[in-house]
Amino acid sequence: MSESTPHVSSAGQRLDGKALSVRILDDLQERIAAAVAGGKDRPGLATVLVGEDPASQIYVRNKRRACEKVGIANIHHELPADAGQRTLLDLVAELNADPKVHGILVQLPLPKGHDYDENAVLGAIDPKKDADGFHPLNQGALMQGDRAPLPCTPKGAMRLLAETGVPLKGLNAVVVGRSNIVGKPVAMLLLREHMTVTICHSRTRDLAEEVSRGDVVVAAVGVAELVKGAWIKPGAVVIDVGINRGEDGKLVGDVEYAAAAERASWITPVPGGVGPMTIAMLLENTVDAAYA
Ligand code: NAP
Repeated sequence: MSESTPHVSSAGQRLDGKALSVRILDDLQERIAAAVAGGKDRPGLATVLVGEDPASQIYVRNKRRACEKVGIANIHHELPADAGQRTLLDLVAELNADPKVHGILVQLPLPKGHDYDENAVLGAIDPKKDADGFHPLNQGALMQGDRAPLPCTPKGAMRLLAETGVPLKGLNAVVVGRSNIVGKPVAMLLLREHMTVTICHSRTRDLAEEVSRGDVVVAAVGVAELVKGAWIKPGAVVIDVGINRGEDGKLVGDVEYAAAAERASWITPVPGGVGPMTIAMLLENTVDAAYA
């Protein structure tokens, strides 16, 4: 096992995304109230739900509730699963042209078996209204270090990391997962912080060995408790993005929480870690698009 991570204690503190997200939402609410009092429009977020996937319905409902809480106008559209690509693209074009809409979120995944092209839909959203940060131009901007809307989950993970106060420069970061929406963008953001970044995936030869070198570990896999507590370097910061439903119906992350918490300096719980931060960042992107 490698030496412990410099600059941090091994206290195993819970990195509370729920509490941080409440503070961020409060700040957004104040920012919106001040702007509206000054004569500006209320920011508008369009949410588009295609089909009736229960998990997507819950995610969209939570996002809409959060809008209401902070004073963002929500323009909600539901389409049947078989609405088709053309209808969805027409709706996106309509929202792009609507001056009351500052952010557009098309909930993914789109229904299977109906020939939707998710990339084409994401690419059709006006990049300036891309509240999710998934447009290829914005993903390119992230690569080049330019200012652009950042994808919400990676942005939220980085905000949590900043909350620890651990100086990141020069430390090792290990990201488990290489999806376009979490693994790859969070790796780019860690690189921006001058960390030495390793990206692991399903073909990584020795995951335990790679993870054990991480001063920061970000798990975004979708396999319950894949990352074992014993792999965590003493003092490491662990950000668990995974949301998996256990056999007992409870939510669990991608990291074996209790065992990892004994070794980590900071660790995000599931639920109550990255999840609420993702919503807070979606709203922040919308408010930035309206007022920045
Ligand atoms: P994804 O697109 O399915 O990607 C999963 C990644 O994990 C892939 O890169 C895959 O490798 C890798 N992987 C799978 N099995 C592995 C293994 N045994 N060892 C090492 N790597 C493995 O998932 P995602 O969309 O990034 O989401 C990941 C998790 O985060 C899910 O639980 C999801 O529900 C959760 N999530 C949470 C939030 C939030 O707000 N908290 C937001 C988004 C996602 P390959 O590329 O080689 O296949």
